[in-house]
Amino acid sequence: MQGLMMDYPLTIQTILERVNQFYPRKEVISKLPTGVHRYTYGDFYRRVHRLANVLQDLGVKPGDRVATFSWNHYRHLELYYAIPCMGAVLHTLNIRLFPEQLAYVINHAEDKAIFVDASLLPLVERIKEHIGGVGTFVIMNDTGQPPQTALEPLADYEGLMAGAAETFAFPQLGENDAAVMCYTSGTTGEPKGAVYSHRAIYLHSMAECMADTLALSERDTIMPVVPMFHANAWGVPFAAPMTGASQVFPGPFMKPPDLAGLIQDEKVTFTAGVPTLWFGLYHLLMQEDYDMSSLRAMVVGGAAMPQSLIEDFEKNLGIRVIHAWGMTETTPLGTVANLKSNMDSWSEADRYSVRAKQGTPVPGVEIRAMDEAGNIVPWDGQTMGELQVRGPWVIRSYYNDPRSPQSFTDDGWLHTGDVVTIDPEGYMQITDRTKDLVKSGGEWISSQALENALMAHDKVLEAAVIAIPHPEWQERPLACVVIAPEHKDQVTKEELLAFIRPKFAKWWLPDDVVFVEELPKTSVGKFDKKVLRERYKEYGL
Ligand code: ADP
Repeated sequence: MQGLMMDYPLTIQTILERVNQFYPRKEVISKLPTGVHRYTYGDFYRRVHRLANVLQDLGVKPGDRVATFSWNHYRHLELYYAIPCMGAVLHTLNIRLFPEQLAYVINHAEDKAIFVDASLLPLVERIKEHIGGVGTFVIMNDTGQPPQTALEPLADYEGLMAGAAETFAFPQLGENDAAVMCYTSGTTGEPKGAVYSHRAIYLHSMAECMADTLALSERDTIMPVVPMFHANAWGVPFAAPMTGASQVFPGPFMKPPDLAGLIQDEKVTFTAGVPTLWFGLYHLLMQEDYDMSSLRAMVVGGAAMPQSLIEDFEKNLGIRVIHAWGMTETTPLGTVANLKSNMDSWSEADRYSVRAKQGTPVPGVEIRAMDEAGNIVPWDGQTMGELQVRGPWVIRSYYNDPRSPQSFTDDGWLHTGDVVTIDPEGYMQITDRTKDLVKSGGEWISSQALENALMAHDKVLEAAVIAIPHPEWQERPLACVVIAPEHKDQVTKEELLAFIRPKFAKWWLPDDVVFVEELPKTSVGKFDKKVLRERYKEYGL
């Protein structure tokens, strides 16, 4: 049977129309160096149309890639809509990529124009000799001063907007048309491009709002702290307008007092970010008083959130933490750790241990784990295997990349490179990335499990466990630990090992602990274990 349902393309255009039709008075708030900027979704809608005219005048055609190099703020949101709605492809550039990687992704994507925050110009200037193919640099002046730059040809965002008409007839798009692209942050290798279709983003937004996912609703005021330059700020800039929720953007103000201040002043109800951010926020809130009563939940992902911190946030501050997992390749949300109703009667300790897992797949996503022999591992919560996923918002190839085939199984699943267990209730728990596992005498040791146990110690701020070469066991774990400044020099290696000893088999325990001032981080704030492995590759055990 054919033709029973309407052929209605799932596009970002429909989200844009909806937010203007039903929620034109809801606010979008951005903190910028020039002050707090506020306007409504109605204003936003009109400016998105102006911006589409601007893009057209710049010569942008359907299918062209247009890049952003920008913090989270209202102009970035305008680009999030105008570019895909006119049929072009929004390419969010990671402002923390190394210069060579940045030039590589700009050239690989063949970006036609780059919209750049004036405050970030120096980072683009460093590579100007290597990105000659970019037609125009459009400056979004967030500093209030005339920008000084050698980049050319140059245009000013507000100047172009002032001269543009407020109406634009968006073309009819297909739901499988490309809308957004983002390169992986390169934690484990060179960046690879993921291109998301309109349909993927639309379906992902719906799934994100579901009650047992993040339960986003019109009543929320949502602050995505996770950058809009990485994995679409976890889809919040698309999901929030779909529901009519207000949005609060921190701009370049990412320090704990800025975030706490915004949550308090704007009555933020929901926020999203990586664990390192929330470590900092937790320590601030334990020392200083802020009114966090508006905050109903924070979603945490991108790296493992230690169970101890989930408990601390809830027990000491009354802030609910939702642990989630995703990847650039999965638009990005894949799993969320909410409890099922049958777990209400479980002990508190058991419930927290479920919520510290990465969770069950959201509707639309399927998961399985496979061992090295190619067998699907049982869902017993014990057996480790590599996580594979599939679903309507999982990419099926990398953009123009010969490495693509090796990332997918013959039967169409994505290799995630994450090593996991899945329990009988279907909750997935990451034990490691394949590249971070410690392989000791042929057995796997989970570096993440050791890190989480170390970070549960109240004097430990951060801990990363890496594999270092060992003559007998091939690899052994080494723990690199940052002690909280107020407890500096008060903790010994023996004390830390004694603290975690009851939780692990003896052969899992790190062979040594080194105390460091800080841990190297990747462009998106994850522990950079590549750097640590290099640093300690000749460490004698
Ligand atoms: P990159 O691969 O460059 O780090 P991504 O942001 O796409 O960039 O990273 C996705 C990876 O981050 C996942 O494959 C997983 O290893 C890790 N990750 C994401 N969420 C979590 C989480 N909640 N717990 C542990 N690891 C996570």
